[in-house]
Amino acid sequence: MSPTIDIHSLPAMDVAGRLGRLREMLEPAGCDALLVTKHENLRYLTAFSGSAGMLLVAPSGALLVTDGRYRDQAAEQVAAAGVAVEVEIANSGGQLGALGRAARGLGRIGLEAASVTWSFQLRLAELFEGSALVPTKAVVERLRVVKDEGELARVELACQVADVALAQVKSRITEGCTESEVAAELEYEMRRRGASAPAFETIVASGPNGAMPHARPTERQIGGGELVVVDFGATVDGYRSDMTRTLSFGEPSGELRELVDAVFAAQRAGLRAVTEGASGAAVDAACRESLTEAGYGDAFLHSTGHGVGLEIHEAPAVAAGSADILPAGAVVTVEPGAYLQGRGGARIEDTVVVTPTGARVLTKSTKDYTL
Ligand code: ZN
Ligand code: ZN
Repeated sequence: MSPTIDIHSLPAMDVAGRLGRLREMLEPAGCDALLVTKHENLRYLTAFSGSAGMLLVAPSGALLVTDGRYRDQAAEQVAAAGVAVEVEIANSGGQLGALGRAARGLGRIGLEAASVTWSFQLRLAELFEGSALVPTKAVVERLRVVKDEGELARVELACQVADVALAQVKSRITEGCTESEVAAELEYEMRRRGASAPAFETIVASGPNGAMPHARPTERQIGGGELVVVDFGATVDGYRSDMTRTLSFGEPSGELRELVDAVFAAQRAGLRAVTEGASGAAVDAACRESLTEAGYGDAFLHSTGHGVGLEIHEAPAVAAGSADILPAGAVVTVEPGAYLQGRGGARIEDTVVVTPTGARVLTKSTKDYTL
């Protein structure tokens, strides 16, 4: 029953083509070259998954700098993906020196404004003194929105691992176990099935704790008839999944059952609204209107969803006021919730792929709340 994860049997990702697509976006972004410092963007463009490194993408070449810990890994990952990038291994001073030499003659160098600290920007201004530094916003992130077949296969597998873990854990937890125990069991099952890590810190929130959308698991024992919000996901080859189910030992009270039913209905409305070309705002509105009609408009305390991929929260935003349009091949969550202070909360979340004919739901776990 446990899916064995063999990354090499999955469809390959088109990593090698990404630098070319990025270069086409440099001029519209107002720069001739881009210094990539955000970890997930570096990984996306080069396949290098180490925790430290920088990438200078120039019109005619690219330089990846990292330190000695990653000498073999960087060379292997870049070569395996067929990425046209030079790799320089050095200490931090040496890395900056190599970047400075590679940047000679470049007019405008873009920085990823959201991931560069003020002090590092000052240092780069000295290093690249012959060039103009240009702040850029979400250039690589925009490329990452539409996933290729290989990326979709990894997200789908991450969803499957989470589904199987939940089924296993549901079969053995009992009334009186603590939130922390359930979270630990879920993470253990995901790891056992090949996840490299949880996709984010697992949420298990029971009874009144469930009224806090991002509650941390506590030593609280889960009682009968309470709602338990379980929000978690797996990471597979860097790609993440994200799901929430609301569960109960025994039948919840009338008030809480109504709450869960309203959230179910809102989540179905949200899934129906997902299609190629829909706006993130329209999907949010579908969920919000459904909950408002049921009398829970004020109890829906967060946005409907977000993109998922190398990061757990990435573009596009599925939120009121979001100008993002959902393209085919984007991966988003649909996760309406309603929270009654002091009494409990409910949230249902699936990870879905946007297609021309609607949402392809990757999360397969039953939405039945019975434990
Ligand atoms: Zn979630
Ligand atoms: Zn989410």
